[in-house]
Amino acid sequence: MDAHVSGTARIACLNHKGGVGKTTCAVNLAAGLAGAGFRVLAVDVDPQAHLTASFGLHVPPGRDLAAVLGGALPAGEACIALGKLSVLPASSALAEAEMALSRQDAPVTLLREQLEGCAGFDVVLYDCPPHLGPLTRQALGAARGVFVPMTPDFLALQSLAWLMETLGADNGGPGVRGIVLNRFSQRKRLHREVQSAVAGHFPGIPFATCIRENVALAEAPSHGQDIFRYAPASAGAKDFAALCREAAKRLDLAGRARS
Ligand code: ADP
Ligand code: MG
Repeated sequence: MDAHVSGTARIACLNHKGGVGKTTCAVNLAAGLAGAGFRVLAVDVDPQAHLTASFGLHVPPGRDLAAVLGGALPAGEACIALGKLSVLPASSALAEAEMALSRQDAPVTLLREQLEGCAGFDVVLYDCPPHLGPLTRQALGAARGVFVPMTPDFLALQSLAWLMETLGADNGGPGVRGIVLNRFSQRKRLHREVQSAVAGHFPGIPFATCIRENVALAEAPSHGQDIFRYAPASAGAKDFAALCREAAKRLDLAGRARS
């Protein structure tokens, strides 16, 4: 794809279904890519603030993305540095900000414009809410591509075609740059069938790496840690390390970091 484009890779983790692994992917891709030496910004675009909590952060309203969107706080001041990784956190105030966005019919470029002051990152990951509402539209306005985490079941497969079309360039979307099969078991026939159907319908888009069901991935957020800190020897850490390598290659992060 745009292998030689310099500048920041901006990726929204998005699926209109909840509980499929958007936050798990955003957290552990961000942590893994930062661990590999890339400068990463993770933006919590979900009023549930699960990405924020997964990094052990809790911020008061007024210091979060809602304040940034409202123009009350420069994005650079809202970002919290955790080594090579920075987090732009959310709080419950983001729910009210989302209602304000829809009342004002705000332009979808608002988030992109507010983040312009946040330079110097190789990759920005946006963790989206589980619907295509005003906050997700802001993330799509700021992103240059989407990663879609999904569970390997029949109904998820059914709604994938609609999502791929909605996010495609024909509809003014940034396009899907990767599909991540989450909670995948090679032993389950249904999972293998969904995997080959996704690969058949959308060649080149699914990642070869699938994320297995792994209890450490479910436990890590309650310790405020990513999987590499919480359980570095776990299957979850191995899977996400492989996914990070694949994503870094696909987004040409090494080329971007050099340029
Ligand atoms: P979403 O952001 O799409 O709503 P989450 O990433 O929050 O989904 O995942 C939903 C729940 O499932 C969380 O409790 C998370 O820890 C857990 N989870 C996600 N992926 C896995 C996995 N591969 N193995 C075990 N638990 C997982
Ligand atoms: Mg989430």
